[in-house]
Amino acid sequence: MADSTIDELRAWLEQAWDPDLTVGEWWERLGTSGWAAPTWPTEWFGKGLSRDDAVAVQATIAEFGALPAPGGLGLLLAGPTIVTHGTDEQRRTYLRDIVTGQKGWCQLFSEPGAGSDLAGLQCRAIRDGDEWIVTGQKVWTSGGQYADVAMLIARTAPDLPKHQGITYFALDMHQPGVEVRPLRELTGRALFNEVFLTEARVPNDAVIGGLNNGWAVANTTLANERAGLGAGGGSAAASLAIPGTVMGHLDRRAGDFVPDPASRRRGGAAGAMFGAAEKLLVELAKGNGQIDNAAVRQDLMRLHTMNEIARFTNLRMKAAKAQGRAPGAEANTSKLSMSRIVRLARDLGLRILGPYGTLHAYEGQDRGTLDAATGNPFISMVTEMALFSPAPSIYGGTDEIQKNIIGERVLGLPKEPNNDRTTAFRDLRVGAQGGS
Ligand SMILES: Cc1cc2nc3c(=O)[nH]c(=O)nc-3n(C[C@H](O)[C@H](O)[C@H](O)COP(=O)(O)OP(=O)(O)OC[C@H]3O[C@@H](n4cnc5c(N)ncnc54)[C@H](O)[C@@H]3O)c2cc1C
Repeated sequence: MADSTIDELRAWLEQAWDPDLTVGEWWERLGTSGWAAPTWPTEWFGKGLSRDDAVAVQATIAEFGALPAPGGLGLLLAGPTIVTHGTDEQRRTYLRDIVTGQKGWCQLFSEPGAGSDLAGLQCRAIRDGDEWIVTGQKVWTSGGQYADVAMLIARTAPDLPKHQGITYFALDMHQPGVEVRPLRELTGRALFNEVFLTEARVPNDAVIGGLNNGWAVANTTLANERAGLGAGGGSAAASLAIPGTVMGHLDRRAGDFVPDPASRRRGGAAGAMFGAAEKLLVELAKGNGQIDNAAVRQDLMRLHTMNEIARFTNLRMKAAKAQGRAPGAEANTSKLSMSRIVRLARDLGLRILGPYGTLHAYEGQDRGTLDAATGNPFISMVTEMALFSPAPSIYGGTDEIQKNIIGERVLGLPKEPNNDRTTAFRDLRVGAQGGS
């Protein structure tokens, strides 16, 4: 990125950042300045910068020691989708609240019978005057318990083939027809929820991208999700303060949510888990003598090699993009390689820790006790990574689905025969309506 842009950002931070502002006041300044969503168009709260430049912007804000832009799915997914498919009226309604963190968003896509086969979703929306009435069940809804608004996809035309009868809505989560039930997962936290929609209401002017065009709109959201999973994606933007009205962070002091310099150097929890795992494991192995174990050294080298290959693949993708070429198989292999790297880092980390790998603090307040007892705060990072490690093989398209895509779209192997693009959704056999 041009040095002048970074200089401009630094000068702006010098003048605008004040740790004594509330989180809401600071995000108001950051969001309306264009630095919270630098890739968005200048007329819609952005700076029109490239994705790589946006990563440099996030890094500069973090290095400066200011609170990063609001995290969560509003800025990452809903905003770019509305920028692309929304009307100007919808952009005016939703985008400002996203960049200033006033509203938190969640993604109501997956259902118990429709995850990999998302287009098989059963949740129905039926027109009622100027509104739609929505009934169905969603699952795996990250952050649903503190979201104000949801990206919802629902079936609006069961007579059309399954990809054609879906509509994308912006649904108000604070209404009687929406019940959110947290699901406690392996890590001890409840990152996701089940969401039950029972005659929930959504106005017709909250249809994003047109009636029955939801599959195309959802694919924009999913493309942004995949891009956010790549190197330097979501973690760089992660903020400890949660946007929206539910958590109450907007009225708290902004400076209290800025990571301390030591954890910034470590890359924060997310960075330590994925980006910096290699360095962390080398330090741990040096610290407890496991570095003398030839098998451990060999796997550390394997991890390093896989990370380097992923880095080079990423550079090839960037080079292709810079030359105006669409990325080829690299884009599909990078998600698969990330899940393999995470699994190797988990196995290696637990081997290096030995018996310490059985210790884990599930609640935040116990973390300090465990760190003090072991004298090593990095142990918790490894066990946290180990417990979270199955997730990257599932979210953003499972490993098996990535392999199917490589087989069919990259290697040109024949697709499994099916009639779901030509037959009305309601006439498909039940197993092919969802989860097939
Ligand atoms: C951390 C995390 C956060 C998430 N957050 C959200 C969220 O906020 N909102 C949301 O809507 N969803 C969310 N999801 C859900 C995620 O998108 C789904 O879990 C994912 O799409 C897989 O769907 P599923 O769990 O229904 O598994 P299924 O699709 O039922 O798959 C089960 C198994 O069958 C395999 N399989 C399925 N189809 C095929 C096939 N055709 N060929 C070969 N193998 C196949 C899969 O690979 C998998 O191993 C999240 C998931 C995770 C892990």
